[in-house]
Amino acid sequence: MRICVYPGSFDPITCGHMDIIERIVDMFDRVVIGVLQNREKQPLFSLDERLGYIRRCTPGYENVEVEAFDGLLVDFARAKNALYIVRGLRAVSDFEFEFQMASMNKKLYPEAETIFLMTNTKYSFLSSSMVREVGRWGGCLRGLVPGEILPDLMKRLKNSL
Ligand code: ADP
Repeated sequence: MRICVYPGSFDPITCGHMDIIERIVDMFDRVVIGVLQNREKQPLFSLDERLGYIRRCTPGYENVEVEAFDGLLVDFARAKNALYIVRGLRAVSDFEFEFQMASMNKKLYPEAETIFLMTNTKYSFLSSSMVREVGRWGGCLRGLVPGEILPDLMKRLKNSL
């Protein structure tokens, strides 16, 4: 069984993330979306909110699981029996950090492969931080975040000022 982990902060999930998810559900038997719990930087959305938003956007996928994790990604991937780690690449600026991460993860978990998917060019400018910033000031997030969560997210972000 081909199992992958797609890790991230998802603070919050965007159409760019969804685009990657829609592509990997057909490539793997099981997709585990791993939501990173602890970060040096405090996320705007609580862990439960981030998990909830992702779950609301992925109910139709039988092979998708959404779970929180903490600590090393390789430990989470191992616990999930995942031999693949999926990451998205938007711009050259993503590359250096991703290259370091993938190299370290290879050292810690040699059996696993990191797989990079190029962003859909439609979403190459899109990041969770951009969504937070636009939403906070009342800008329209249509087309940037999935429709299932659009009204709630816009309301929630406006209240985060
Ligand atoms: P992290 O803080 O770990 O980068 P993110 O939630 O920002 O977590 O992103 C999770 C993954 O999704 C990363 O691999 C990131 O490159 C990818 N990603 C984020 N936005 C996009 C996008 N617009 N297009 C493609 N991939 C994306």
